[in-house]
Amino acid sequence: MRAVLLSALALVAGASAHIGRPRHGCTESHLLAKRQGGTVASESQLTNPTQECTAYSVPGIDANFLKLFPQPWTVTPAEILAGDNEALQYMQGINASGVIPTSIGVRGAQNEQAWAGAGLAGTYDIPGDPDCWWTDKGCTTPKHPNLIADVETCPEPETWGYSVDDGPNCTQNALYDFWKQQNQKVSLMFIGSNVVNWPLQAQRAITDGHHVCAHTWSHKYMTSLTTDQAFAELWYTIKAIKYVMGITPTCWRPPYGDVDDRIRGIAQGLGLRTIMWSHDTNDYNIQPYGAQPTASIQANYQSIEAVGSSPAAATGGIIVLQHELEDAVMSLAIAEYPNIKKNFKSIVPVNTCLNITKPYYEDYTFPDFEDYVGGKIDPSPSGQSSIAIGSTSYTITPLTYAASSSAAGSVGTAAAAGGSSSAATSAFSAPTAPGATPVNTAGAAAATVISSQQAGSSSKSSGAAVTLVPGLFVFVAALVGAALC
Ligand SMILES: [Zn+2]
Repeated sequence: MRAVLLSALALVAGASAHIGRPRHGCTESHLLAKRQGGTVASESQLTNPTQECTAYSVPGIDANFLKLFPQPWTVTPAEILAGDNEALQYMQGINASGVIPTSIGVRGAQNEQAWAGAGLAGTYDIPGDPDCWWTDKGCTTPKHPNLIADVETCPEPETWGYSVDDGPNCTQNALYDFWKQQNQKVSLMFIGSNVVNWPLQAQRAITDGHHVCAHTWSHKYMTSLTTDQAFAELWYTIKAIKYVMGITPTCWRPPYGDVDDRIRGIAQGLGLRTIMWSHDTNDYNIQPYGAQPTASIQANYQSIEAVGSSPAAATGGIIVLQHELEDAVMSLAIAEYPNIKKNFKSIVPVNTCLNITKPYYEDYTFPDFEDYVGGKIDPSPSGQSSIAIGSTSYTITPLTYAASSSAAGSVGTAAAAGGSSSAATSAFSAPTAPGATPVNTAGAAAATVISSQQAGSSSKSSGAAVTLVPGLFVFVAALVGAALC
């Protein structure tokens, strides 16, 4: 646990470098479109960073579309937008369900420049850690009732659970190309603001068959936000991912790992499982963007890589925190990959670690661990939703994608709510009106089974079924220890 705490402190020690810098094109100025975006395929072929990071516009991502979301990358946290009754009613429903502990307040003030900003220096009972505040002692097993535990390790032995935060990023092509060459899939923790700013890069994650989780709208310390704000940070991220990428994630990672039982409850109310990590590369802090020389970050990698040949590796794998923030970070990920491969038997996305083959509401089937290591690494979208999300309660309505023969990989978009295209493409129309039946109103408890997912234990055959009811998100008894990702 001490190691985790030290890791947390190290993470935050560099937070100012991490957050204080503008990300590539992640500022609002990006919205001043300078060029016409192409398709996922054409965008994926760009290699000049200046060109890649020149703001673009694509059909559908227009002023009207952006009105559905908070301003990307504003300094204030996301708020539920005026008139967004769907969001309001969903939030009210989650509150009414009781899944959010009411005894936990906002911690400190939002301050991205200092660790104290997350409130650790406040009045919290640090020794007792009553709210399972990860920032305190690295707690991942909730102490309030009805909350499911975070995921922080990979149950498969000698396995590197590959998770990459903070995308999409306009300069991601070299890294994504590398993954493609290596037949490597990854779990990507996407920031909502980046998804609407870089929609074609976001879609590439789907066409390339990666696994996607949410990483909040604007990367704030979540425990320092009000419940409504924390909800909005997640809600608009899910919505952006749904509208732009056609899938609804069921997992999220808190920025800086800053989560407690109140935030877990909000996330769980939105159907999101909290995904942490067991090992941190601290790669975001690499020079010239961060404070640490490349050799220091390499040393971090080497110590994590050494775990693969330790006795402990025989009993389980790890989940590693990496980033796609900047060129140096991504270049080092490429440089270290052969070493990881040398030391670990398998390198897999987090959902594969956990044998979760249906990570979205939509009908995508991912390989389980056994299939993945056997070489069947691509998900199989059918283009049809197996779950009647729209007709019951879940009302986020995806953009309607127009079929395009030029889409790379022809991976289907989610066809929830009647979509029928099978090819991801940049040519999508404006969203249809939000659904008229918000979740959590009368009858919200009527079962809409989100998914029956395999729990993560030592093998794909040992998992317990997971059943969620949107709005109440009642977890069946067998859920304890199960993984929803
Ligand atoms: Zn992050």
